[in-house]
Amino acid sequence: MPSFAFYKNEFVPLSEANMSVMTNFIHYGTGVFEGIRGNWNAENKRSYLFCLKEHYERLHQGCQVLKMELPYSVDEMCRITVELVEKCGFEENVYIRPLAYKSAEALGVRLHDLECDFTVFAFPWGPYLPDKVRCCVSSWRFPNGIPRAKLTGLYVTNALAKTDAIETGFDEAIMLTSDGYVAEGSGENIFLVINGELVTPASYDGILMGITRNKVMELAEAELGIKTVERHVDRVELYNVSECFLTGTAANITPVSEIDNRRIGDGEIGQITEKLQNIYSDVIRGNNPKYLNWCTPAKRKGR
Ligand code: PMP
Repeated sequence: MPSFAFYKNEFVPLSEANMSVMTNFIHYGTGVFEGIRGNWNAENKRSYLFCLKEHYERLHQGCQVLKMELPYSVDEMCRITVELVEKCGFEENVYIRPLAYKSAEALGVRLHDLECDFTVFAFPWGPYLPDKVRCCVSSWRFPNGIPRAKLTGLYVTNALAKTDAIETGFDEAIMLTSDGYVAEGSGENIFLVINGELVTPASYDGILMGITRNKVMELAEAELGIKTVERHVDRVELYNVSECFLTGTAANITPVSEIDNRRIGDGEIGQITEKLQNIYSDVIRGNNPKYLNWCTPAKRKGR
């Protein structure tokens, strides 16, 4: 089944959504992206797009940072995305990649006087990480004083950290802030279970404010009565937690079994992590009526 893209204001086969090598954003990282999941619900034959509007609101905030005035509103981008997924018609989980970018075919390092555009495409994508992951703390640290939006150019640090981790035999990297506090994974936020409570780095640590992170905090409190403390986390604290997991659109909730070659808990999926995984997995598939408003349905046309 072919994938489609919304590109230059129309739907085209993904293979035809190609841009010129002169495009400004390719050279200077002047793009803002998102990752959205469409979760396939086999019983009612539709995909549920999780937190669609929140993702486009975050994209819009990133556009402000890069001085981009998109020709589409948040609501229009949501509508385009639903139409795209319906057009693709995949009967499996999909990943949706919106991108706002400096589309001018003009070189020169700047943000001003450059046109911008918006594209979005979808493709089938299963699990991003293994069922449980072995992590290492990376020697690559975030740059200081940089906006933590999903700016394409910022992800070079994350790519350095991820590849370093994989090449030294781990599954994922945990990055520290420039002052040495725990920040996040290369594409996920991090949660720890300490004394039965959840602990996660705070917004003042300069992390990306993950949409999954917010929803997990809300579900932990509402469904399990567990509060989350947002605070600085020291690297050494990681070694003595009873549970640890990563959250993200691609990773969902992924348990961490080891950090820096030290076992977390008994090295298996922790109790709280497992409960949250089960709750989350129902919610994102539209199987929990209480949270159905977090999901936007997309149904293949003609079915
Ligand atoms: N941190 C980073 C660096 C990320 O790339 C992501 C993925 N978007 C996250 C955290 C998690 O964010 P979200 O839950 O919104 O996908």
